[in-house]
Amino acid sequence: RKVKAPQVTRAMDGDINPFTKRPFSSGYKKLLERRKRLPVFSQMSEFYEMFNSNQIMILVGEPGSGKSTQIPQFIAYSDLPHVKGKRIACTQPWRVAAMTVAKRVANEMDVTLGKEVGYAVRFEEMMEPGATFLSYLTDEILLREAINDPRLAQYSTIILDEAHERTLATDVLMALLKDVARKREDLKIVVMSATLDALKFQNYFSEGKRKAPLLKVSGRTFPVETLYIREPEPDYVEAVIRTVLMIHQAEDEGDILVFLTGEEEIEDACKRIKKEADDLIDNMPDSVGPLICIPLHSSLPPSQQQMIFCKAPAPRSRGGPPGRKVVVAMDVAETSLTIDGVVYVVDSGLSKQKVYNPRIRVESLLAAPISKASAQQRAGRAGRTKPGKCFRLYTENVFINELEEQTYPEILRSNLASTVLALIKLGITDILHFDYMDTPPPESIMRALELLNYLAAIDDEGNLTPLGGIMAEFPLDPQLSKTLIISPEFKCSNEILTIVSMLSVPSVFMRPKNNQKKDAEAAKALLTVPDGDHLTLLNVFNSYQQNKNDPNWAWNNYLSGRALSQADNFRTQLQRIMERFDLDLVSSTDQRTFYVNIRKALVCGFFMQIAHKEDEKNNYLTVKDNQIVALHPSCGLDTNPEWVVFNEFVLTSRPWIRTVSEVRPEWLLEFAPVYFDVASFQNGETKRALQRVIAKKTGVAMPPEKKKGKDRKEHK
Ligand code: ADP
Repeated sequence: RKVKAPQVTRAMDGDINPFTKRPFSSGYKKLLERRKRLPVFSQMSEFYEMFNSNQIMILVGEPGSGKSTQIPQFIAYSDLPHVKGKRIACTQPWRVAAMTVAKRVANEMDVTLGKEVGYAVRFEEMMEPGATFLSYLTDEILLREAINDPRLAQYSTIILDEAHERTLATDVLMALLKDVARKREDLKIVVMSATLDALKFQNYFSEGKRKAPLLKVSGRTFPVETLYIREPEPDYVEAVIRTVLMIHQAEDEGDILVFLTGEEEIEDACKRIKKEADDLIDNMPDSVGPLICIPLHSSLPPSQQQMIFCKAPAPRSRGGPPGRKVVVAMDVAETSLTIDGVVYVVDSGLSKQKVYNPRIRVESLLAAPISKASAQQRAGRAGRTKPGKCFRLYTENVFINELEEQTYPEILRSNLASTVLALIKLGITDILHFDYMDTPPPESIMRALELLNYLAAIDDEGNLTPLGGIMAEFPLDPQLSKTLIISPEFKCSNEILTIVSMLSVPSVFMRPKNNQKKDAEAAKALLTVPDGDHLTLLNVFNSYQQNKNDPNWAWNNYLSGRALSQADNFRTQLQRIMERFDLDLVSSTDQRTFYVNIRKALVCGFFMQIAHKEDEKNNYLTVKDNQIVALHPSCGLDTNPEWVVFNEFVLTSRPWIRTVSEVRPEWLLEFAPVYFDVASFQNGETKRALQRVIAKKTGVAMPPEKKKGKDRKEHK
């Protein structure tokens, strides 16, 4: 028996909530009226027709047409997951979107968030096993679930939302789901996208010659006037602030949506806009209306996320200048979250993007120019409710001649180590020829295989080792999971578990600008362990635990309480996985070996991230990749040790290494003999230093320079 639209509308209009068997509240009815005005709603019959007769379908529609909020509900009325003991999943590339949409849908369905409707994002989960039948998950979380349960047996329908974003996890999920669909006839898949590049998805999910069916949701949008600047702006944040204030003074009523790049930049811009607006209002109270400025980025706590949907402030007096809401956002507002009431868009033309250089194995997140497609999406956000304006803070010439047509899919510009390990764990043997929508660069795949082989996660033939099998179960980069798994052998798994958790969350150190800067630095200095940044992280977490009953402790020490509690949650989550594999939680009581052992364990995972001091100016050279780097200014070491292990390579004003601890060269030779095979090193200071260590150990004089021998590992 297949559900049809009239039945569903009747149920929605009824008095009893079919999912809870309780009467609908009055709030429900009000929201329902609004929902009915969404474009998706008027195509409910078409949706059911296609959904009922196909296993896989594609759905495209303008952002804001109701895809993310309504389609999963339509499917719930059809799948009846609550009576069949199944679940519906809807993936989102952004964690903020997963949380806000889940909250909205729980309201719309008149159920409890965290019970019937839930969400799961990294470090945060609001679900109840057995009760939750609709869950919004980040694509990464669903990919993790697929590793544990390749048939995704608990789901009746899986919706891949925002597929046009082409995140690494969504791309991999598309390939996996195509395969699962063949094995599970009862599983349905809906791929949703905001752009009209639907043909690519239709072809990818085709069956033989038959393309996957497509449902187009026709949305209505208003014209948007696009304005460019004439001369390039040297400081785009400054330009953003000026433009927002100009709009506020000169333009008609309507909210402003600003696109910037990172969290800190967004928070900072908000503060400055607020301050300058207040100054303006003080000077000209009769001609400037009230203004509120709200940040929107990935690490926003759930309690603040709803703020973006609040109403603009009312004018101070009747007929006075209009109040305005300004939302300063990152790309999540491009298509994933729609804020009604936006009439003006201010586009910096930039976004934080992942770039991977497989040659030197460095992945970085850089503010880079967006594509034409993104610029168009951003502009479109101004025309949701009436004609709008988009202020592009770049020249028309840049737009026409310099911006790429489309953003490159993430799979083409990512470090693939974790993904490749996941695929191998899922039994995919030919990683190079896997069914990718866009095939990643072979060099990136080779680099990933090489790393996994060095870490002993796969053997020389590319087969998963038992160690690799366990590594794949952790939601961590392979270097981190290896360190964690090896740590009981060094009697420091308690400590490494903490360090790994702290390395996984956003930085816990707050960096206020202006007058508080010194205080923050002093607070950090008090928590710093001069022997190494990893130990500092451990110390910060332990101090946080000891002061848990003081709610102001984090704040007083210029630490992010939110990041700390995320680390705490994540630690518990990782601990559960460790227990599953009988990995003991142990600590050494011997003070002399305590720090040494922690650093030894780090070497076991991060031996490919070692740098050697090159000269007295404290330049370091990364081992084998030969990049000249310096210790990041945030580094707390009180000396410049000869050998260091680092967590991260960052490229800003120059290449830096961040989160650094001293290591001993003997450990490198002992715990990573294959990688530190001296014969495989280029001639240079690093090689000579290693040879000196070997000579000292064996008591033999330094051998003469040998010709570079053939090195199997290096050429694989
Ligand atoms: P799409 O997925 O097609 O982009 P959505 O389903 O996300 O569209 O959004 C549909 C509508 O619901 C939009 O007008 C959006 O502003 C509104 N909406 C979504 N979440 C919330 C919320 N938490 N509060 C208020 N309105 C919301």
